[in-house]
Amino acid sequence: MRRPLVAGNWKMHGTRASVAELIEGLRRQVLPAGVEIAVCPASLHVVQVVDGLAGSGVVVGAQDCAVEPQQGALTGELAASQLQDAGCTLVLVGHSERRQLLGESDECVVRKFVAAQACGLIPVLCVGETLEQREAGETLAVVRCQLAAVIDAQGIGVFARAVVAYEPVWAIGTGLTASPEQAQEVHAAIRAQLSAHDAEVAAAVRILYGGSVKAANAAELFGMPDIDGGLVGGASLNADEFGAICRAAGN
Ligand code: PEP
Repeated sequence: MRRPLVAGNWKMHGTRASVAELIEGLRRQVLPAGVEIAVCPASLHVVQVVDGLAGSGVVVGAQDCAVEPQQGALTGELAASQLQDAGCTLVLVGHSERRQLLGESDECVVRKFVAAQACGLIPVLCVGETLEQREAGETLAVVRCQLAAVIDAQGIGVFARAVVAYEPVWAIGTGLTASPEQAQEVHAAIRAQLSAHDAEVAAAVRILYGGSVKAANAAELFGMPDIDGGLVGGASLNADEFGAICRAAGN
């Protein structure tokens, strides 16, 4: 039985004041016990959020980490070891905004995945196709390649300590959501790909859906057999909305 996970990605949003309000809002939520809940603030606010949510049951993740796991001469970057030291338990790797806008390659994403695990963080490996790729019928091939980059480099065993997030690029921040059936098709393909290497690992790995998840569509998406929760961007900036999404994952 996979425990659902709902993770909020706050992206490059927030001031100390608005983050404090969001923390208060989250603390007021009635959150389902059977769901793991995480928020990923901007790195600048990680310590504030770790302190503010202490004892709430909500864990904190980072949105990215450096390819090098340990501290060193890499101006502007944050090592997974530093994120772990600050109280993070997970980290997003390969978010499409970084792949697309900052040119992160699969090779770079694999290095970040490895760095995260080397420091005891759970990497949330983000995969997904663009609109052009979907329209060209390439969705499954694109996602297969992004996943294979990690499997081929590191083996299947690493997925015992990782999460996969399927995020169609065309659904991120656009208000367009993959239908539950569209999402399920890709989630099932991801699990089948993992299963071809190790059925036990595949059965246990959590595969999140991300792309304009909101309270109004969460229950339907989370009701699909291979969707184990969500990676939530915009809607996670509203504590009540995020709380409702978390509760949908608990039903
Ligand atoms: C995301 O950025 O991971 C995301 C899913 O964003 P949104 O929910 O806003 O589409």
